Amino acid sequence: MAPPLTDFSRLCIHTMTTKPWTLEEAARGYAAAGLRGITVWRSAFEGRGPAAAGELVRSHGLSVVSLCRGGFFPHGTAAGRAKAIDENRRCVDEAAALGAPLIVLVCGSAPGLSLGESRRQIAGGIEAVLPHAASCGIRLAIEPLHPMYAADRSAVNTLRQARAICRELSSPWLGVAVDVYHTWWDENLEEEIRACGSESTLFAFHICDWLTPTVDLLEDRGLMGEGCIPVRQIRGWVEAAGFDGFVEVEIFSRRLWATDQAQYVEAIKAAYLEHA
Ligand code: ZN
Repeated sequence: MAPPLTDFSRLCIHTMTTKPWTLEEAARGYAAAGLRGITVWRSAFEGRGPAAAGELVRSHGLSVVSLCRGGFFPHGTAAGRAKAIDENRRCVDEAAALGAPLIVLVCGSAPGLSLGESRRQIAGGIEAVLPHAASCGIRLAIEPLHPMYAADRSAVNTLRQARAICRELSSPWLGVAVDVYHTWWDENLEEEIRACGSESTLFAFHICDWLTPTVDLLEDRGLMGEGCIPVRQIRGWVEAAGFDGFVEVEIFSRRLWATDQAQYVEAIKAAYLEHA
């Protein structure tokens, strides 16, 4: 059954989506718009520290859905890999202080290493961080990134690759984040989402749209309905697989950052109702 037209109870916005806003402005703005969920990027702490950031957003009636982001495990040297693991343990501490139940992992890829070696190092890095995450009650979600980022941002590019790491490490604290921007092109997407559901690893769902042409590989994402991603269809697959968490709007767009952010939040709500 479709949700009532005014139901924003599962809509969450990433602080990076409204990048021009401070965390305080974002918390106030999302709450004023009637939202309940916020995903906080580490860059949004702005020196106040994760515990104070958590208190701030909760004082506006918002729940922290996730902390973005950990990861970037592969490295050409052992010292570099150890440093990445330390950094991810620190990220777990921050999530605990913030009150975020989940960390999104952008897994990384080291130019100079083969994709296979980068994936092995990613699995090794996650394995090293998992005990600390579990002891803090923080879930880790591997977010496969679009293959255009395979060389430098993530060697995990499909849900199938993410699931393989989840199966290898087999922990209730490890799952996946399905982002439509990164996965919409995958001919196996529906069956992979179904498999994640049956393996209980469907932890997070991110939405936006793919613009044609895309003029910047990082900061030219679209609002739902502006591009070619069948967001509502993919949401249907995710929910059929048992996901009932927040639907997170994560849009990096210099074009949209240049607009009035309060009006933009209203545009997000309208696009969510119409296209998600
Ligand atoms: Zn995402």
